[in-house]
Amino acid sequence: MRKLNHILALAIAAGFLFFSCENENVSPGDEVPEEILSKLTQLGFSTDGVMRFEDGFLVENDIYLTAGDIHRMSPGHNIPVVEQYSTDNLVTATPRVITVYMPTGRKGFSSGEQAGLDEAIRRYNAENLTITFQRVTSSSADIVFQRLSKGDERRGILGSAGFPTASGDPYGTIKMSGILESTYGLSTDGIATIMAHEMGHCIGFRHTDYFDRSISCGGGTANEGSGSIGANHIPGTPTGADLQGNGSWMLACTDGSSRPFTNADKTALNYLY
Ligand SMILES: [Zn+2]
Repeated sequence: MRKLNHILALAIAAGFLFFSCENENVSPGDEVPEEILSKLTQLGFSTDGVMRFEDGFLVENDIYLTAGDIHRMSPGHNIPVVEQYSTDNLVTATPRVITVYMPTGRKGFSSGEQAGLDEAIRRYNAENLTITFQRVTSSSADIVFQRLSKGDERRGILGSAGFPTASGDPYGTIKMSGILESTYGLSTDGIATIMAHEMGHCIGFRHTDYFDRSISCGGGTANEGSGSIGANHIPGTPTGADLQGNGSWMLACTDGSSRPFTNADKTALNYLY
């Protein structure tokens, strides 16, 4: 019961962060076409709260997919009943240094967010993977952080990213809220967790609990069912997502706390890279 209460509290907090403004400002033209929703379901994505975002759609809170991406994505190979999942496309040509750029200044990110990125990179590089991240001062980096629009920051979006390209490069743009520190009051470790999460998508991680987002997001059970496809189980990761302390960094929703890599996360990272 105690755990249940904890999860509920987390869910409410997560709900606040992600969903507080989700349904505002939606006009009839903003509706997501049925064919997009059904393709997303086939690919094993939750269709809860899918919204139009820039030139495409924001799926499961923070995954940016265009209609083209959605139609190009291929089905996965395993039935999603266990913990860690990757996309079909991964970063190739490893060992490889992935450069990361985050702008500073008025249209960039605060020192607190800069520190969050440094911590996110430190967490990955501490795992001695075949990919390492390196901050650079040139905007022609492999992954470029950009501020979300003011409107998207205000409507509660925390970040967005996509999946690796078919040619094996990491997804190149992470849109990130610039108000994680100023408005949400998140710590460096909390900010690092959100940034590491978006970087996780860029290198091919899906949401740990995508088969039931109620685990981290609260609300009703949102099971995509055993017929879901488009997510490949990573061998050696345990059965069933749960919050194990603060839980995996790839859970769909966050309460803003720090989620350093769990043992299962480390297994998954080491398996892929
Ligand atoms: Zn995500």
